[in-house]
Amino acid sequence: MGRMYDVIVVGSAFAGAVAAKTASEKGLKVLLLERSTEPGEKIVSGGILTHDAFTEPGLEFLKEAPLERELKGVRWIMANEKGEAPLELTFRSTDDSRVGYTIYCYDFCKWLTQLAVNAGAEFRNNTTVIDVIKEDGYVKGVVTEKGEKINSQVVVAADGAKSLIGIRAGVRRKLPPENVENCVVLDFTIPEREIKRLGLADTFEVYWGTLTPADIGSYVWIFPYRESFHLGVGALVSSRKSPTIFMERFLHSHLWKDRFEDVAKFRAWMWNTVPLWSALDRDQKMLEKTYGNGILVAGDAGGFLDSFTCAGFYGAMASGMLAGEAAAESISKGNVSEEGLSIYEQKYKSRLIWRLMQRPWRRDVIAKMGGEKIVQVSSTISNYVVRSAFDQPKPSDLMLLISGFLPLIRYIGPFLYRKLPMVFNELMMLAGVTK
Ligand SMILES: Cc1cc2nc3c(=O)[nH]c(=O)nc-3n(C[C@H](O)[C@H](O)[C@H](O)COP(=O)(O)OP(=O)(O)OC[C@H]3O[C@@H](n4cnc5c(N)ncnc54)[C@H](O)[C@@H]3O)c2cc1C
Repeated sequence: MGRMYDVIVVGSAFAGAVAAKTASEKGLKVLLLERSTEPGEKIVSGGILTHDAFTEPGLEFLKEAPLERELKGVRWIMANEKGEAPLELTFRSTDDSRVGYTIYCYDFCKWLTQLAVNAGAEFRNNTTVIDVIKEDGYVKGVVTEKGEKINSQVVVAADGAKSLIGIRAGVRRKLPPENVENCVVLDFTIPEREIKRLGLADTFEVYWGTLTPADIGSYVWIFPYRESFHLGVGALVSSRKSPTIFMERFLHSHLWKDRFEDVAKFRAWMWNTVPLWSALDRDQKMLEKTYGNGILVAGDAGGFLDSFTCAGFYGAMASGMLAGEAAAESISKGNVSEEGLSIYEQKYKSRLIWRLMQRPWRRDVIAKMGGEKIVQVSSTISNYVVRSAFDQPKPSDLMLLISGFLPLIRYIGPFLYRKLPMVFNELMMLAGVTK
């Protein structure tokens, strides 16, 4: 018999550190395991923590978090392969707080892990979990790569999008290639005055158009930090294209050379995967369940992402907190069966994250069309706009546009007709007119 804990949390990033903190605060004996040396080291290096996180009851401690830059708007730039940009649109929030803050994952996850340790959790780095211990149909602990077996009443799988632990425990499946995006991100330093001069002080940028082809289902983005920024691009695994091709294309274009080349200094790069359009419901491609006998799944591992933007920091922390609470309540009742741990589902279904995962009309449309197709349709449209601006669009472009629109009309047409008031409401929310 190995050592016994109440809760073992696998992965010390957004979901795991908050789960460990919450369970420890409830008086449980918690072990937090992380494969890397420093928490946050092996995940995407930064991003935007959306405003939602600051409105979630229980996450008030985020007021003290290491935040970088407050963002109030986004600039959409439609560009062609050469980096010529015919169209630039800037959207700004009307209530001054709609977007959020940029964060560095490394600083942020280190800080979160320290909160878990302060609350009493035992933290072990350089420890990769390779399996779960299963007895009588229950998950009863984990096995590390060194062969060590550690027992617990509940395991929280907070090990990210690929979630080996969720799969080994039998509560979720592997993501299909059309739901996974490979991303490459470059990190540059830049003086703060240049950030301001480039119009990035409180605005991030997204580049659409023929610069990135429709089938990769993504775009180039620039996220500004205090004295640095990230340049990133993704490509769906199903497209069989590497995002580095489009990164190189961007770096050779005027979009980069004219604005950034002389003022930005390369510091680091990283490669990561993000689950796309998987955070919907059980009929979708990824999830079986978020809990089972002795196991809870939180964060990306459980698909807790905004179904529209695919932002996951907030969902990871919210689900981590609720997993910590659910573990504590089930253990105190002496029932860590699937039925006992189902309070986890009750908890997250009453929170904002569930609404973001389930945005009703988006969920139905995405479920019918497939998220991949939606991104491709919107990319096709932006490609067409760009082609029309620079060249005479060819008949084949028009065919592409029509073929892109057909599924949209087929699926969304009748649906929109029935759900028009709801869609109008969502559009008002997006425009920042209502909350
Ligand atoms: C390029 C990119 C950009 C993004 N931008 C944004 C953004 O701007 N805003 C936003 O909200 N979201 C963004 N996301 C999504 C966001 O990164 C995730 O939703 C978030 O990191 C999920 O947190 P998590 O704790 O669930 O999992 P992760 O952050 O993936 O953390 C999992 C942790 O578990 C550890 N681990 C994994 N396997 C094991 C194992 N077997 N044993 C021990 N430890 C293990 C890992 O080392 C890691 O520390 C982005 C993602 C990518 C890839």
